[in-house]
Amino acid sequence: MTQTQPVPEPRSLNFIEEIMEADLASGKHQGRIGTRFPPEPNGYLHIGHAKSICINFGLAQKYGGSTNLRFDDTNPVKEDVEYVDSIREDVEWLGFRWAEEHYASDYFQQLYDYAEYLIQAGKAYVCDLTDEETREYRGNFHTPGKESPYRSRSVGENLDLFRRMRAGEFPDGARVLRAKIDVQSPNMNLRDPLMYRIRRVHHHRTGDAWPIYPMYDYAHGVSDAIERITHSICTLEFEDHRPLYDWFLNQDVEGRFFTRPLPRQIEFARLNLTHTVMSKRRLLLLVQEGHVTGWNDPRMPTICGLRRRGYTPESVRAFAERVGVAKRDMVADVSLLEHCIREDLEAQAPRAMAVLRPLKLVITNLTEGETHWLELPFHPEKTEMGTRKVPFTREIWIDQDDFREEAPKKWFRLAPGAEVRLRGAALVRCEGLVKDDSGQVVELHCTWDPGSLGGNAPDGRKVKGTIHWVSASHAVPAEVRLYEQLFTQEDPMDVPEGGDWRDFINPHSLEALTAQLEPSLASAKAGDRFQFERTGYFSVDPDSGSAALVFNRTVGLKDSWAKIESKG
Ligand code: ATP
Ligand code: MG
Repeated sequence: MTQTQPVPEPRSLNFIEEIMEADLASGKHQGRIGTRFPPEPNGYLHIGHAKSICINFGLAQKYGGSTNLRFDDTNPVKEDVEYVDSIREDVEWLGFRWAEEHYASDYFQQLYDYAEYLIQAGKAYVCDLTDEETREYRGNFHTPGKESPYRSRSVGENLDLFRRMRAGEFPDGARVLRAKIDVQSPNMNLRDPLMYRIRRVHHHRTGDAWPIYPMYDYAHGVSDAIERITHSICTLEFEDHRPLYDWFLNQDVEGRFFTRPLPRQIEFARLNLTHTVMSKRRLLLLVQEGHVTGWNDPRMPTICGLRRRGYTPESVRAFAERVGVAKRDMVADVSLLEHCIREDLEAQAPRAMAVLRPLKLVITNLTEGETHWLELPFHPEKTEMGTRKVPFTREIWIDQDDFREEAPKKWFRLAPGAEVRLRGAALVRCEGLVKDDSGQVVELHCTWDPGSLGGNAPDGRKVKGTIHWVSASHAVPAEVRLYEQLFTQEDPMDVPEGGDWRDFINPHSLEALTAQLEPSLASAKAGDRFQFERTGYFSVDPDSGSAALVFNRTVGLKDSWAKIESKG
């Protein structure tokens, strides 16, 4: 009898893959795929950017193409090298290598030359209207625009004025260069958009060489074409800019500037995440106003924040894969992101015991000074990960949450008279307790069953509860930082009249505890990740010094996404 192999479902292509495969099939770019990731270096990258990185690099990888990293540095006022460095680090950390690194500012001369060419072709003009007048002339969705009185300037005059703008003869804002397209167009972007403005400011790369700077819509497509990008992937809000993207490139009628075929802009839906904000401007405010400790605060949705929190690059890539590529804007549930890191760490994080809220437990029938060294596996399934030595002694720490003086029904943890298993060690029964003046339980007195060391009770009696613990005489104290969502509301931007999105900042998003850890954790290094048994996944914070260990809770053990999914 032959067994039929299940035929794997062919994974359907997303719409960008469909476009790419069609282009590859038709030989459009001689079978080449070239993408780029084009961040503006005005902030740190966030999980939305990670999505864009995964799409651009991922698709190029899939089709044997290449991806450039291009810093879109056309707005010198908000940009900084600090951001450039962090962007490089984050892309590399995600696991991607770019073919070429470019800066839109490297193309300032080419952009300038093409602008002169457009002037000469009668397709661009220097306009002296003020910002306010320009807005008024441009009209709006309901009112058609009016032609600027400067639209009919001669080519000679335009060229002269543009050269003098470039020479720095005019003050900021005095004049602009505009494309001459169609002031009546139903698409506002085509109503003679700005190409250049005067800004006599220092640029982090070109210094004071340029008193004029190109606008995004002009610079972006031209940069793509210079780099011979085949598919220029951007977010949905640029859909209405696509005719402009094409217009700028198509004016090179003689093919003097760009190699054909020209790049094609493709839009996909921006990624949003519940319980956080994603725009760089707002993230910057959170930093500046001190709501978080910095761009890499583990509560931030930034890539450096997630890294510090303990996320792995694999988990972020898996998340990007699972949210998929859509044409409609979407909000991903943060529990899906948490599910991805939990799944990854479940498989690979070594286990350890840590008591977050310590309560002393004394085993009265265990001799003082007596130490039983237990050998416990780092991972319950992966024996190849080896074992660690865990000391079991008379005085241990257990978690306050694992003891109730008045035990409710179905309470299988510790309570007066109850018996539990200390994970990997032995059975103990609670025989008494000590309270302080305020009535708080400060110490438990238990007896252990020496016959149960490393296993079950010799008489086979049933003990349902297992709790974690740490030897008090060997414990390593550490600061443990527990995080909750940064915003209490799912969509912090859904603000009622008169309110502010910052009203939804969660005042309890960080809780710092002094925990007691098993001694094997003493040598943990910044970035190491562990599962603290029964508690969650934790990673060593870079704040850790030799004097004090600091752990961040990456994510708890409870998977709320699995619940959502099973309900769905
Ligand atoms: P923000 O609005 O957060 O400041 P941005 O779009 O201004 O972001 P850029 O530096 O211009 O940031 O973005 C670089 C690339 O990342 C662009 O191609 C952009 O479309 C993409 N990108 C930015 N935010 C998201 C997001 N939330 N989801 C998917 N892609 C994004
Ligand atoms: Mg932008």
